[in-house]
Amino acid sequence: MKRKDEKVMSEKFNVADIFGENVFNDTVMKERLPKNVYKNLKLAIAGVQELNITDADVIANAMKNWAIEKGATHYTHWFQPLTGTTAEKHDSFISAPNENGKVLMEFSGKELIKGEPDASSFPSGGLRATFEARGYTAWDCTSPAFVREGAQGATLCIPTAFCSYTGEALDQKTPLLRSTDAINEQALRILRLMGNTTSKKVTPSVGAEQEYFIVDREKYLQRKDLIFSGRTLFGAMPPKGQELDDHYFGSIRERIAAFMKDINEELWKLGVSAKTQHNEVAPAQHELAPIYAQCNIATDNNQLMMEVMKKVAYRHGLVCLLHEKPFAGVNGSGKHNNWSITTDDGINLLEPGKTPHENIQFLLVLGAVMKAVDKHADLLRESASDVGNDHRLGANEAPPAIISMFLGEQLEDVVMQLIDKGDATSSIQKGKLKTGASTLPDLNKDATDRNRTSPFAFTGNKFEFRMVGSSDSIAPANVVLNTIVAESFKEIADQLDGVENFDMAVHDLIKKLFTDHHRIVFNGNGYSDAWVEEAERRGLPNIKSMVDAIPALTTPKAVKLFESFGVFTEAELKSRAEIKYEAYAKAINIEAKTMIDMAGKQIIPSVISYTTELANSVLTVKEAGADASVQADLLAEVSGYLKDMKAAYTKLIDVTAKAADVTDITEQAKYFRDEVKTTMDELRAPADKLEMIVDKEFWPFPSYGAVSYTHLRAHETRGNL
Ligand code: ADP
Ligand code: MG
Repeated sequence: MKRKDEKVMSEKFNVADIFGENVFNDTVMKERLPKNVYKNLKLAIAGVQELNITDADVIANAMKNWAIEKGATHYTHWFQPLTGTTAEKHDSFISAPNENGKVLMEFSGKELIKGEPDASSFPSGGLRATFEARGYTAWDCTSPAFVREGAQGATLCIPTAFCSYTGEALDQKTPLLRSTDAINEQALRILRLMGNTTSKKVTPSVGAEQEYFIVDREKYLQRKDLIFSGRTLFGAMPPKGQELDDHYFGSIRERIAAFMKDINEELWKLGVSAKTQHNEVAPAQHELAPIYAQCNIATDNNQLMMEVMKKVAYRHGLVCLLHEKPFAGVNGSGKHNNWSITTDDGINLLEPGKTPHENIQFLLVLGAVMKAVDKHADLLRESASDVGNDHRLGANEAPPAIISMFLGEQLEDVVMQLIDKGDATSSIQKGKLKTGASTLPDLNKDATDRNRTSPFAFTGNKFEFRMVGSSDSIAPANVVLNTIVAESFKEIADQLDGVENFDMAVHDLIKKLFTDHHRIVFNGNGYSDAWVEEAERRGLPNIKSMVDAIPALTTPKAVKLFESFGVFTEAELKSRAEIKYEAYAKAINIEAKTMIDMAGKQIIPSVISYTTELANSVLTVKEAGADASVQADLLAEVSGYLKDMKAAYTKLIDVTAKAADVTDITEQAKYFRDEVKTTMDELRAPADKLEMIVDKEFWPFPSYGAVSYTHLRAHETRGNL
C-alpha cells in the first residue's frame, strides 16, 4: 500500500479550482439563494438589518442541499468556548422516520440560527453560579459556513457565537464581534472628520503567522510529557540544537514537504488562503502564514488552520505540536498577529504613503495607536498570556514581556520632527540597494529595516503584534487591539468635533499624542538587558508571568474601557480572569503529575537498573583483578543525581498534593507558579544530568535529538539518537 505522503506527491490539482470548494461563500449563496433572500442575507452580514426566520429557512435549506451534495450527513454549530480550542456537537440532518420507515434530510432556519449545547461543562468563570446553566450558540453570518471532511464523513460547520442564557459571552467570538463594531463606529467618525464621505464600513484586517513543531508520531507516543502536556518536561539538549542556524529557511525535507502540501490543499478547500511556509529557527519548527482577512474570519481561519495541521499530521504519521515551548533550549513558537484597519472601499488607515509627514490622517491614526498601546500596555500583554507562553515572554526569547512599539527610522524621524520642531517637513526616502554584481539588478529598499525583537512593530502598512502564543486563539489580542484603538479614536473624535480651526487642531493634537506617548516607542534591541532597565526608567510595565498579567483584565481602567464600548461587562471580565487562573492551575497540575509519573515509573527505575549493572560491573571487574575505578566513579555520580532526583520527586508529590488546600483560585495559581513549578525545575535538573551519563539502552524514552529530527522516521533513529 502506498503511504499517504507518497500518494499526494504524485497528484496534480489546480489551486484556483479547489480554493473555497468546501465553503458556502458568496458565489454559492448568489447561485443558490433567491435574489431577495440573498439581498437580505447580505444586509444581515453588513450588520444593517436582522435576518427574518422565513429567509433563514430558505438559507438553511440551500445550505443543507449544498452540504449534502458534498457528502455531508451532519451539521454542527462550530464555536470557540474559553477552553482554547473549538467545540462542536454534531446533529444529523435526518428527521424522525415516517410511517413507511423512511427519513428525510431536514435543516430549518431555526436550527441554523440557534443551537443549545449544554453549557454546563464549558468554563464560565463563575457566570454560571449566578446565572442559568443554559448556553446558546448563535449563527455568525459574517463568517461563512463550510463542509469539513474527515473520518466521520463530511459535516456542515456553522460558525457560531456562544452565550449564556442571559447573554453573557462564554466564547472568543462574541467579544471579538462587539469590538469590531466599536472600532468601526469610532474609525468612521475620524474618517468623516477628515472629509471622507464615501467609506461605509471600517474593519480590522488580520493575518496570523502560525508557528508549530512537527514530530514523528511513534516517538511522540513514547513520551508521556508530550502526550499529556504538549511539551517535554524532561530532556537534555542534543549535541546539535539550533546553533548553526541551518534550519531557518532551510530547504524543506521531503517528509515535511508532503505534510505541508496536504495542509495547503485542505486549507485551500476550506477557503483559508495558506500562502507562505518555511522552516523556522529550531529543528522541527515551521511556520505557515495565510493572506490576511477581516479580523473575525482570520480568527476562525486560524482555528481551522490549527485543527487541520493536527489532523493532517496524524495522517502522515506525525504529530503537530502547537505548544509554545515543546523543547527547552531551542526557540518556542508564537503567532504573529498582523493588524491593520481597512475601509470597505479599500483604504488602509495604516498606509503611510511615500511622504508620511504630509499624510495627516495617517499620522493621526498612528498617534491614536501609540496612545492606545501606551495606555493599555498591560491589557495587550495580558491578551497574549497563556500557560505555555510563560516560557517565552520575558525569557530572553522573542519577544520580551515589555510592550513597546517599533516605528522604524522613517516614521521615528517624522514623529521626532513634530515633537522637537512642532512641524514635520520631510520624510526620509528609501534608497537603492546596490547588489554589486553586474548581472543582478539593484533593488529598491524599504524606507525602514525590520526589527525582530519588538513585540509591536510597524511593518510598512500594518502593525505586527508578536506576543501571541502559538496555541492560543488570536481573538483576545484582537479584542484588545480593536477596543483600545476605538477608545483612542473616540477621544480624538470628541476633541476634534466642531472645532473652529480644524487643521490647526489636528496638527496640535497629533503633536500632543506623539509627545505624550513617545515613551512607548523603542527601536533598539528588545532582547537586551539595557532595554529592561531603560523601560523601567520610562515607567513601562514589565509583567513577567501570566499570573501577574491576569489582574489587568479587571482594573477600573479596563472595566471602564470595555464597558463603555459594550465589549465586556465587569462580570464577563471577572469570569475571564477566573477562567485564566483556573487554566493556569490545571495546566501546571497536569505537568507536575506527569513529571511525577515519568520520574517514579520510568526514570528512577531505569536509573536503578543502570546502577545495578554498574555495581555488578565494579564487582566483576575487581574480582578479575583489574581497575574498576571508572565504573565506581560513574556509579557514585549516577547515585548522587539519583538521590537528588528522589528528594525532588518526593517534594513534588508533596507540594502538588498541598495545592488542593489553597482554595482561592488566584492564590492557587500563584501557589502553582511559586511552589509547584519551582519544584518541577528541581526535579528536572538532576534528571537531565542523568540522561547525559546513563547508558542510552536504559533511558526510558526517546531523547530530544530523536524527537526533533522529524524527517527521520522512528526506525531510522532507533539505536542512534
Ligand atoms: P513576515 O514573516 O516577513 O512578517 P509574512 O509575509 O510571512 O511576513 O506575513 C505577513 C502577514 O501579514 C501575512 O499574513 C499577510 O497577509 C499579513 N498582512 C499583510 N498586509 C496586511 C494588512 N494590511 N493587514 C493585516 N495583515 C496584513
Ligand atoms: Mg512576521
